[in-house]
Amino acid sequence: MKKIWWSWDLRMRWAYGFSQTEESFIANYFHAIDAAKKYGVESIVIWGFLRDAHGGIEAARRIRDYAGDRGISILPGVGIDDYGGVYYAGDSPYSLDTYIRAHPGSQALDEDGTPSTHRWPPTDSGLRLKACPSHEGAINYYIESIEWLLDVFELDGFQIEQGDSGYCFCEKCRTKERIVAAEDKAAAAKYSTSVTDGAERIGKVTRSVLERHPDITILSETYLGLTEKSLAKMGPVLDHYPERIVLSWQLYDAPGYFKIEEGVASPSKHGNAALRTNSDALGGELDDRENIARALRLAKGAGLEMTYIYGEYPDQWPLTRGNYETWAEGAED
Ligand SMILES: [Zn+2]
Repeated sequence: MKKIWWSWDLRMRWAYGFSQTEESFIANYFHAIDAAKKYGVESIVIWGFLRDAHGGIEAARRIRDYAGDRGISILPGVGIDDYGGVYYAGDSPYSLDTYIRAHPGSQALDEDGTPSTHRWPPTDSGLRLKACPSHEGAINYYIESIEWLLDVFELDGFQIEQGDSGYCFCEKCRTKERIVAAEDKAAAAKYSTSVTDGAERIGKVTRSVLERHPDITILSETYLGLTEKSLAKMGPVLDHYPERIVLSWQLYDAPGYFKIEEGVASPSKHGNAALRTNSDALGGELDDRENIARALRLAKGAGLEMTYIYGEYPDQWPLTRGNYETWAEGAED
């Protein structure tokens, strides 16, 4: 399996300072890139790749170049309708905040009618504006933004997500029929992920980008596991996604929570096993080798060709090193 580290800039612990400054951002990723080869990591996903606070385009370019010189590609996190667009935070036309400020009708609404915002991860003090998934005008903006990103940084690919921070409650979105990720009814009504919006929006954007860049890697988050129930949700909308992209299945969350069943096969030609463990987001540092090994066995059985695990913690930490080693070994074909 192809191996990837996934990271939020502001959760990185390889160096001091949580990437809040340019110096810290560069040090965090240079250390991670230096270590990545040991585990056969081919690419690193970076959410918050572009922020004015940590050096904007120039700092991002240094990290991309440092990785490229060592045979590792950088896959920036691209958010559509949430998570900042391609320029996560700053004075840029490619920041989703900038687009929404210029097109106020494009902003998503909370249930009480106030414009929607989102703050994540907890180490981020800034609020990002969220776009309404019924707003068609933003699609071309996303496509143009991604074209800019690929051209400026000469990238081999990116990761893309449509947002997992709750619905838009505008008139159009309220009446739209949607398949949602949550199994629990109360959660499904108020705060979940729209599988339909994700497939429709990401499908449109990535089909267009692939026309000009047919060979890039696009890793797309489904926010679903690989269970019979998940597959029933994805089935009706799967065709929105181009066959060429890699669909990412969140089949394991630490500690010990599996969302993959024995005997279930990937419904997409290209699939990624998202192993969400050993991160500030899920359980902190923990010895999770047994579950990591099991998740990868099941993932291979399902026909997945790629895997990512969080790469935010340094491998000088013994438990983390053990997790990386087990993951790298388990991903061997
Ligand atoms: Zn809406």
